[in-house]
Parts: sequence; C-alpha cells; structure tokens
Amino acid sequence: MNRLFYKTPTILRLLFGKLLWKIKTKEKAIYLTFDDGPTPEITPWVLSVLDAFDAKATFFCIGKNVVQHPEIFQTTQKAGHAVGNHTHNHLNGWKTASKSYLENTTEAAKHIDSMLFRPPYGKIKPKQIRLLKKAGYSLVMWDVISADFDQTLDSETCYQNLIRHTKPGSIVVFHDSQKAYENLKVILPRMLTYFTEEGYVFKSITPTQKP
Ligand SMILES: [Zn+2]
Repeated sequence: MNRLFYKTPTILRLLFGKLLWKIKTKEKAIYLTFDDGPTPEITPWVLSVLDAFDAKATFFCIGKNVVQHPEIFQTTQKAGHAVGNHTHNHLNGWKTASKSYLENTTEAAKHIDSMLFRPPYGKIKPKQIRLLKKAGYSLVMWDVISADFDQTLDSETCYQNLIRHTKPGSIVVFHDSQKAYENLKVILPRMLTYFTEEGYVFKSITPTQKP
C-alpha cells in the first residue's frame, strides 16, 4: 500500500462500491480493525489496551495463525470483539486464481466463524469479490490507514494522520503483527485517549452493516 494513501481515494471507493469502506452514521463511533493476528506477542497487549478504554474492535485473522494460537482467538471473541476472515495463508488476490482464493478462504472459515472478510493487501479481483459475495461474505475495506506497519514512518506522523482523517463511521486499519508493533504501541493508546476525550465510542463491525 502506497503510504500516501492514508485516506482511501474516492475513485477506488466508486469502483468497488459493493465493499464496505466506512459505516454510514452520524454517531461519534469509530470502527477499529486489526489485521494479521492472532500474534502471541502483540494481540494480548492490544486486547488489554482496548479493554482499558471499553473499546470494541474487529480482528481480521489469518486462518493459519488461528490454528497456531486458538486460545488468543477465543479470548478475543470472549472479550466481545468481532472476528473476520483474512484468508488462511494471507493470499494476494491479484496473484491468485479465483478458485484457489475461494478455497483458501473456505479453509480459514473452518477455524473462523464469521461472514466478515477482508482481502489481504486490499488486493482482490472483481471475480473474487463476486464469488465471496455469492458465498454470503461481507467484504470490509477501510477509509483510514494507520500505516503502523511502515517502519520508515515515525509514530508521531502516523498519529497525526490518524487524528486528521478519522471521522464518525471511519473504519481504521491497524495490524496486530510484530512488524507494526513499534508504531502501534505508541499510536493505539494515544488515539484511544484522544477520541475518547472527544466523546467517541469504539465499536465492532457486524455483517449486517451495508455499504
Ligand atoms: Zn493482512
């Protein structure tokens, strides 16, 4: 993902209008999402920070990681967060045949009981979108990228971008992965503090939310 795209360009949203880019609401609600877990060194920390702010979020898990760390996955759900499917092996849709892409998602679904789906890297072909929709999935994208994974960016820059771009109904992407932790450990508590003081609440996404 190009780091200039903190805010998803309108043209992409128009082209892929069947996907959920943000939640239509006037309520001061923010939808935080965490991709690529469960990760034993990171996810429990994220859960404890969210708990401290009474915040709910959505975790797009990699099936393979759920198989390796089922206890963290269970803890996440028990804490009242939503979970979603992020394929079994973090596949790049652009480089994967649509049949294999669907099979890999179905494999992950054996371990992740959810009709929410987010394509890894945000890269997905129109045919894959059609197949997943037909299978009943809600495809969840984002409108704000934290860029937590970008190790060339300092946390202050990431934080300022988050504050500037997050609006009521925003879907914000973070990663509960090792690579993102350096920035995440700074920006997540700061963001929760800032928007809580501004009167916002943090909610999880449900499959019934329509684009
Ligand atoms: Zn991912």
